[in-house]
Amino acid sequence: MRAEKVLITGSGGQLGTALRKALINLYGREAVIATDLVPRTDEIGHIQLLDATNESKLGKMVGEHAITQIYHLAAILSANGETYPIQTWDINLKSWLNVLEVARKYLVKKVFFPSSIAVFGESANKVETAQTEYLDPLTVYGISKSAGEQWGNYYFSKYGVDVRSLRYPGVIGHESLPGGGTTDYAVEIYHRAIRNERFTCYLCEDTALPMIFMADAVRATLELMTAPKEKIRTRTSYNINGLSFSPKEIVASIRKWYPDFQVDYQPDFRQQIAENWPLSINDNQAQKDWKWSPHYQLDDISNEMITELLKKQKLPKKV
Ligand code: NAD
Repeated sequence: MRAEKVLITGSGGQLGTALRKALINLYGREAVIATDLVPRTDEIGHIQLLDATNESKLGKMVGEHAITQIYHLAAILSANGETYPIQTWDINLKSWLNVLEVARKYLVKKVFFPSSIAVFGESANKVETAQTEYLDPLTVYGISKSAGEQWGNYYFSKYGVDVRSLRYPGVIGHESLPGGGTTDYAVEIYHRAIRNERFTCYLCEDTALPMIFMADAVRATLELMTAPKEKIRTRTSYNINGLSFSPKEIVASIRKWYPDFQVDYQPDFRQQIAENWPLSINDNQAQKDWKWSPHYQLDDISNEMITELLKKQKLPKKV
């Protein structure tokens, strides 16, 4: 059996920063090749330059390092996608098709595709949105993710590429700042709170969305990717649930640590995106197939976000 050798694309982003650490813990530093459009060296290690839209460079790297797993995180996210729709389609789809083709040609054992709750649109039931709901996304990002899911399923059915995928809710983490999604407010709000600054929220106070804490998102990814192949019965993408909350609810949670925290509401174009997304997610299939269950509720998230951000900013601990 080949030793695992992992390639991550887009690894300098919000999810990549946390997933890179977890993969290094699991497989060892030498086994993880981190890449991004923006190369850099940080406390975790080095991120090499790789534009995932360049198939020959991607193929060369996969061949040279005898890669066994690819985590394809490179993408343009939902809010930025609406500013650059054509580029978003080009980057998100081209890079994913490159990964699938390279995986097929180089016999990569497993491939991970991060999909999103953005695949759901107007027709889907908003409450407890099921795995099999109709997909009619209204954003370019959602269209690119739903097409990406179908391509993953195609490469699995046609070529036997072991493609595995999750529909992440909005991911909340302290590792880095988010990269232009509709749920970014739920990360930025903690950065304001710990500096005792007022926060302006671009969503209405009652707009609830499905979210997940980074530790849960990373654990879900690794649980999916290490599950026995026969347990993976969904090859488009699995719904996974974390929790659902509105801006008003996160503010109430933050006020348990910062009672004077002030928020203004100035909804912008992201409000419309959010209104077409689910309020909550049904993840029965993931529970059944590979035993998914989230651990973090809202106050757990607030506690960890505040503690970790204060540590990072070298500010006194809040009790
Ligand atoms: P991010 O924007 O923080 O990071 C994406 C990274 O991709 C960036 O570092 C960027 O430099 C890189 N990138 C962009 N174009 C590239 C290219 N052509 N080649 C190589 N790298 C490129 O995003 P994230 O939050 O870390 O999300 C990672 C993945 O998870 C994305 O596919 C995203 O769609 C998906 N996802 C994220 C969320 C969330 O809430 N963060 C929710 C659902 C799905």
